[in-house]
Amino acid sequence: MIALVPGAFTAAVGTETGSIEDLKVEARPSGIRVIESRIKKDESVNIETAEVLVAVGQGLNSKDDLAMIEKLACVLGGEVACSKPLATDRKWLSEERVIGLSGKKCKPELAILLGISGQVQFMVGIRDARVIVSVNSDENACINQLADYVLLADLYDVVPQLNAALG
Ligand SMILES: Cc1cc2nc3c(=O)[nH]c(=O)nc-3n(C[C@H](O)[C@H](O)[C@H](O)COP(=O)(O)OP(=O)(O)OC[C@H]3O[C@@H](n4cnc5c(N)ncnc54)[C@H](O)[C@@H]3O)c2cc1C
Repeated sequence: MIALVPGAFTAAVGTETGSIEDLKVEARPSGIRVIESRIKKDESVNIETAEVLVAVGQGLNSKDDLAMIEKLACVLGGEVACSKPLATDRKWLSEERVIGLSGKKCKPELAILLGISGQVQFMVGIRDARVIVSVNSDENACINQLADYVLLADLYDVVPQLNAALG
């Protein structure tokens, strides 16, 4: 079995040289016993295929403030994503929206990161984005070294202004 991150490679055209062979495989009986199957209750959002991601982190102070983040994602035609603590600790967003090592590996055209410090476990999920814009109020945050554009600013100043300008 070969597993690849969606969008990691561009499909090759006209270079197929392989052949398909039928193999005889002896499958041993599974040691796993299925007791019950349940459908996972989730929102079914796929941040891996979004062209634009507006990702929010622990710089957000309150769950109510997600409204302005959702508005920004909406005006940009994108999806809301987040760092892990927002989903697993605060439970403000579903785990389907987590970017990173234990979340999704994404490759959007544009990623706007709001109040995210840029820890390696987060960055592995977004480093392939074409353009990364970060809004962070800490001049020493790791993300400042990793983003293409850095706004050293308070997201509570930037997001309402972006929404007013774009909305
Ligand atoms: C095994 C393992 C797996 C992990 N997997 C993942 C993973 O898949 N995804 C993931 O995200 N994390 C993962 N983590 C956690 C990861 O190490 C970090 O703890 C996490 O990414 C930090 O999230 P954050 O950037 O939102 O929060 P923080 O590191 O707390 O950063 C918050 C940032 O917000 C800024 N800020 C605060 N207020 C404002 C404001 N008003 N305006 C602008 N900026 C502001 C601060 O300056 C700070 O830089 C994993 C950890 C481990 C050990």
